[in-house]
Amino acid sequence: MQRLGFASVYRLTRSCIVASSCSTTAATHPTPILQPEVQHTKIFINNDWHDAVSGKGFPTTNPTTGQVIGQVAEGARADVDIAVRAAREALSRGSPWCQMNASERGMLLRHLADLLYRDRVYLASLETLDNGKPYIDALHDVDFAIQLYQYFSGWSDKVCGQTIPVDGDFMCYTKIEPVGVCGLIIPWNFPIVMQALKLAPALTMGNTVVLKPAEQTPLTALYVASLVQEAGFPPGVVNVVPGFGVTAGAAVAEHMDVDKVSFTGSTEVGRLVQQAAGRSNLKRVTLELGGKSPCIVLPDADLDFSAQLAHDALFFNMGQVCSAGSRTFVQEPVYNEFVERSVELANKRKVGDPFNLATQQGPQVDLDQFNKVMANIKLGSKQGAKLLCGGKRFGEIGYFIQPTVFADVTDDMTIARDEIFGPVQSIIPFKTLDDVIKRANDSRYGLAGAVFTNDLNKALQVAHGLRVGTVWVNCFNQHKVAAPFGGYKESGFGRDLGECALQAYTEVKTITIKVSP
Ligand code: NAP
Ligand code: MG
Repeated sequence: MQRLGFASVYRLTRSCIVASSCSTTAATHPTPILQPEVQHTKIFINNDWHDAVSGKGFPTTNPTTGQVIGQVAEGARADVDIAVRAAREALSRGSPWCQMNASERGMLLRHLADLLYRDRVYLASLETLDNGKPYIDALHDVDFAIQLYQYFSGWSDKVCGQTIPVDGDFMCYTKIEPVGVCGLIIPWNFPIVMQALKLAPALTMGNTVVLKPAEQTPLTALYVASLVQEAGFPPGVVNVVPGFGVTAGAAVAEHMDVDKVSFTGSTEVGRLVQQAAGRSNLKRVTLELGGKSPCIVLPDADLDFSAQLAHDALFFNMGQVCSAGSRTFVQEPVYNEFVERSVELANKRKVGDPFNLATQQGPQVDLDQFNKVMANIKLGSKQGAKLLCGGKRFGEIGYFIQPTVFADVTDDMTIARDEIFGPVQSIIPFKTLDDVIKRANDSRYGLAGAVFTNDLNKALQVAHGLRVGTVWVNCFNQHKVAAPFGGYKESGFGRDLGECALQAYTEVKTITIKVSP
């Protein structure tokens, strides 16, 4: 195993400082690459590119136009088998990965962060092409991924076991070890962030991985795989198998030689993943699933401020956010005025070409999602919610939907209960704080929630009363690399981000040694 020399460490450290201080604003953005060249479309195993065993490919589409960008190798069970074998081999005794010092694993991750920073404009442009999200948002995603690799790199040599004072003449200590081969199954809404969210803690703890990106957005995962190789990770440590959920995804979840699956996606598929783990080898499972997060507006908060925050909480990323504030609860004295301002904001939202730097809202990710959102809008009107703006397709091509606002939504309506995952805001009136906490908790989900108020006691009542994994007070979607994120109830279990995330990628071994009295 080649060790990283002082010179390369110095070089990495210098450029990481630059990377960590980067932030993107519309005023300082680097210009996007309007037609980024697609460089990798094959399966990545053992630091090499492979066609699918079946020889098949599948199209990935540009949601802005509905046109096919290109064909990607369609991995399935046979390819997952090969990838898992490579990942197992990379963990074998004496392998370069197992012999590597923990600090060196951290340095490789920092090098990977550096390479993402070098290629951030290309990566963001590729993401916009494949996913449809506004380029500025894609740049933020890349920057957040860089932060994730940097943050987790620091943990590689800092997770310690304990020395335990047990009874008798024994020395007892614990050793923290990697879980083994980890299957990482991710969705399409934040592809670059989701990769980093799982790869970074898994690798820093010394695991090997098989990553299955979402079928809609495989391109950035394959490009990041090429950066993994360039960074110097040994063969087999990271393997990427694009393909469909029912074939490649299910093969990962059912595999007898995968030790752990970290899944982010819908609650329905999360259930299947957990069942597959139960049917196979009882692999460890963490699930980051859907949400129906309440955004609670109290009358004492500045109305312009809370209307803007509630708007952003729902419309960001075309509403395709697991923690979207998709139930806007507003207390009655300010309800009508709040609704008026929300409609103004929705009407002002700039929808269009995601490569245009003024654009705030691009297309939904594909035709299925477009149809699902439109069906929900129809259902909202049918069940008696008041449609105040939007509700229709935007433009002639691609999968764009007008920013849509419903008022007078009641708790029993489908749009107040199910995830819509689109640019559809549901505004719901309430009378008292006790009432709204109870109603906010009346959901099968428990991912996140927020309250806007200047009254500290009320903020704390809501923060402590909600049965959710994250509460934001006077802010929303503030995801921080060091702060745990995950769900209560059917929003899943386990935590991504922060120190908590490391537990999901480690086992604790207890060693007891008989010593002389
Ligand atoms: P999804 O349909 O559940 O898919 C997620 C991933 O699972 C994809 O890679 C998918 O492959 C794969 N998959 C599908 N069926 C599978 C199976 N039987 N076995 C194993 N894997 C399978 O979710 P999505 O539509 O991509 O994403 C939207 C959902 O994700 C929403 O519910 C959202 O709330 C949730 N989400 C949660 C978080 C969080 O942190 N809590 C973050 C983001 C998104 P294919 O692409 O081929 O279908
Ligand atoms: Mg695509």
